[in-house]
Amino acid sequence: MLKKRNIDYVLLEEDRIGDGISKNTTAFLTINHDYLYNQMIGDIGLSKAKEYISLNQNAILEYKKLSSLYDFDFKECSNIIFSSYDSELLSKEKYALELLGVNVNEVDSIPLDIKFHKGLEIRSQATIHPLKFIKCISENLNIYEHTRIEEVFNRIAYTKNHKISFNKIVIATNYPIINRFGFY
Ligand SMILES: Cc1cc2nc3c(=O)[nH]c(=O)nc-3n(C[C@H](O)[C@H](O)[C@H](O)COP(=O)(O)OP(=O)(O)OC[C@H]3O[C@@H](n4cnc5c(N)ncnc54)[C@H](O)[C@@H]3O)c2cc1C
Repeated sequence: MLKKRNIDYVLLEEDRIGDGISKNTTAFLTINHDYLYNQMIGDIGLSKAKEYISLNQNAILEYKKLSSLYDFDFKECSNIIFSSYDSELLSKEKYALELLGVNVNEVDSIPLDIKFHKGLEIRSQATIHPLKFIKCISENLNIYEHTRIEEVFNRIAYTKNHKISFNKIVIATNYPIINRFGFY
């Protein structure tokens, strides 16, 4: 994305790219994770929750667009959450999703041999192959592997032997590398 926008960038990776958690992920791209929205509306309000959904759904669309350029096994599928008993939580979640403008279908079967009471299906979600994806998008990028950032201070990132000055930094290390409030 940065390269496409002609922004001067460098990616520093302490090991090999793709060797972190991402290589083990299920790589399910979805706006929904368990019972999320009933609580979220209560915590941050309807309009912020809508913004969250739209950012997540747009991200799935970005992957879809990229899948016309690269082959990383992009497949559309549904997200289904289900409950084995008559769950009030599930009904509340359906109400919250509908309030947020998401189309939800009630389902009574899923593609697995599991007995359950009720399920909620959201369509147009997706899965990808994470390593194929990383391989496709990382070609011809300015990447330095085996380069650990040891400290970030005053717009300078320090590795063992180098200093990199920056205007903006994206720390995408899954777990924070800087032990300061707000970095987790
Ligand atoms: C079993 C499992 C299933 C999952 N399923 C899903 C799913 O279906 N959908 C979903 O959205 N999420 C899922 N997740 C979560 C998702 O995989 C992670 O949130 C995501 O992969 C994190 O990506 P990342 O790039 O932040 O971290 P990583 O892939 O871990 O990459 C971070 C990189 O930073 C490097 N690094 C660390 N410290 C430094 C440093 N000091 N200097 C330089 N480099 C450094 C590491 O070497 C690593 O390569 C799942 C996770 C697991 C474990």
